[in-house]
Amino acid sequence: RAVLEARHVHRTYGTGPAALTDVSAEFRAGSLTAVMGPSGSGKSTLLHLLSGLDDADHGEIRLGETALGDLDEDARAELRHQRMGFVFQGFNLLPGLTGLENIRLPLRLGRRPATADPQWETYLIDLLDIADALDRSPTQLSGGQQQRIAIARALLHRPDVVFADEPTGSLDVATGRNVLGLFSSLVREHGICMVMVTHDPVAASMCDRVLVLRDGTIEHDLATTAPEDLA
Ligand code: ADP
Ligand code: ADP
Repeated sequence: RAVLEARHVHRTYGTGPAALTDVSAEFRAGSLTAVMGPSGSGKSTLLHLLSGLDDADHGEIRLGETALGDLDEDARAELRHQRMGFVFQGFNLLPGLTGLENIRLPLRLGRRPATADPQWETYLIDLLDIADALDRSPTQLSGGQQQRIAIARALLHRPDVVFADEPTGSLDVATGRNVLGLFSSLVREHGICMVMVTHDPVAASMCDRVLVLRDGTIEHDLATTAPEDLA
């Protein structure tokens, strides 16, 4: 069953060429999709449309039963808040807060501030191995630690979908592989749908599927062979 779906989506900015032309794709719970393609091929536009940060000109984005185009700006912000998580290349942690405060910050920002499920929070902290980073400022942490904090932040509210934009782009190869390995196993294990823009072939090889965009269309939609299938 698709949790997230793009149906015949078009997007053009101003008088420019189409950034996306008739893009349709389904994303399932527990699946990891890498979105690849050259610069300008429409990757960021697709991520922005799927996450409701931007509106399609035509076509529809659905999250479960909800068509994002039917919601106003506030309702979409709340939907992002409740059901989506975001991980970025630059981590986007606040330097004035500790690791733990960063992890919990999104829960305070919703319409109804919430508290974390303590068992889930402890589970994420253990699995991501960030106990030592909780009372420190992000400025005292390595890139890999910062991204593991950012992953905990993105997953703490148990989103249905998590979007990642070049999550390994600021990390060296070994650290990127390690961090993404933890992230991907968490996402798979808990049936979260992950959509990741990446240029990193190692990161893409850890996904189940690779969508290759070119000039605003899907050029390839490839099922990848998971490493365990090769064993
Ligand atoms: P990618 O993420 O693959 O580099 P983008 O989605 O950023 O591609 O861009 C797709 C196309 O849309 C490009 O031609 C780009 O120049 C154009 N584009 C993206 N964002 C904007 C914008 N805010 N205003 C005008 N054109 C844009
Ligand atoms: P870059 O394109 O340099 O990798 P980022 O990864 O920081 O930039 O952000 C990617 C996109 O996600 C940005 O264009 C921005 O509009 C959007 N974004 C930034 N912060 C948030 C946020 N807190 N929630 C949702 N979307 C965000």
